[in-house]
Amino acid sequence: MSNQLSDRINSVTPSATLEMAAKARELRAAGKDIIGLSLGEPDFKVPDYIREAAIQAVNDGYNSYTPVDGYGELKTAIITKFKRDNGLDYAPSQIVVSTGAKQALYNVAQVCLNKGDEVILPCPYWVSYSDIVKLADGVPVEVPTSIDTDFKMTPEQLEAAITPNTKMLWYSSPCNPSGSIYSKEELRALADVLQKHPQIIVVSDEIYEHINYGVTAHASMASFEDMYNRTVTVNGVAKAFAMTGWRIGFIGAPSYIARACNKLQGQVTSGANCIAQRAVITALEESPTRVQYMVDEFKERRKLILSLLNGIEGFKCNEPEGAFYVFPDVSAFFGKTFNGVTVNNASDFAMYLLEHANVATVTGDAFGNPKGIRISYAAAEKEIREAVERIKSVL
Ligand code: PMP
Ligand code: GLU
Repeated sequence: MSNQLSDRINSVTPSATLEMAAKARELRAAGKDIIGLSLGEPDFKVPDYIREAAIQAVNDGYNSYTPVDGYGELKTAIITKFKRDNGLDYAPSQIVVSTGAKQALYNVAQVCLNKGDEVILPCPYWVSYSDIVKLADGVPVEVPTSIDTDFKMTPEQLEAAITPNTKMLWYSSPCNPSGSIYSKEELRALADVLQKHPQIIVVSDEIYEHINYGVTAHASMASFEDMYNRTVTVNGVAKAFAMTGWRIGFIGAPSYIARACNKLQGQVTSGANCIAQRAVITALEESPTRVQYMVDEFKERRKLILSLLNGIEGFKCNEPEGAFYVFPDVSAFFGKTFNGVTVNNASDFAMYLLEHANVATVTGDAFGNPKGIRISYAAAEKEIREAVERIKSVL
């Protein structure tokens, strides 16, 4: 039978991060000693006080459907978090809890985009943005940046990318995959451009907010009074609390967008998992300083991996200010042959590292930047050392 699938799904690329992680798992199952630096997944245990809250929720009999947009107590904790950490004031009607920040982003695209609406994505961007936009019939408009501007989009680039069809701007800060952080002044300069284009809604993905190495303070686009009513602030617990599998993300948004996400979610998931939601109340109510030990550890690993990679000729790294990825420019290797394999682009390079060094990374193509690869350092120091040693030996 011919392919009976929809054009919609046929046009979507599989998530490169999840695909690489699956490939690494497969190779490992086949007996290969693969070091996985492809997935952005903290290797820490969920902190005790959060696990205890989950156990308590099970024992307290939380097993029913939750309100579609999240438990009232969780929304209160989220509102307190936004106020405490970001200076943002949200009402309960502006908050929606979802099955991960990924679903939160998906919801926003589905409720905001019509066919042909353009979404500006500064590159490199997080792998799923372009496909989430396409799934909503939107058109991703990639704005290339380079290592020379620390992978940040300038106001001039933003202005040049705007057309009458531009509906949204999406970015993450700290950025996955580059680790770059937009300062408050840099965000203000982008906001000044957006002032001239009131139809544009901003999605500010702040899921790495707490994984910040202290050079540039975290800033939220919605904290500017003139941007508040046109910004969706996305956040979640996967990264800072090592809760990737618990699948809780959330938004603070203009009420009309939050209401629409709630309506969509009511037809799609009925809401996020009840036990995870109860645990996240505790995670957010407690001070973020309780998870600082993980950030401190990531900071050490960042130092280590940068010094090791910079010791390999051809790797050009920026210094990530947040998140737990390095995104080296590896274009110096393109066109060269190693062990009989010619590496023509970033995908070839990542594949070569997987097959010859047994190290899983992700090609920059998946992030809209064909010169780089993404290496996650959310891994043990021993693995980082061994991985870079292996990479060095096959180049
Ligand atoms: N945004 C960014 C920038 C991410 O790296 C991720 C990866 N987890 C997400 C959103 C999705 O987060 P979640 O796991 O909560 O769905
Ligand atoms: N966000 C993580 C990453 O970029 C997890 C994988 C995913 O959700 O795609 O690797």
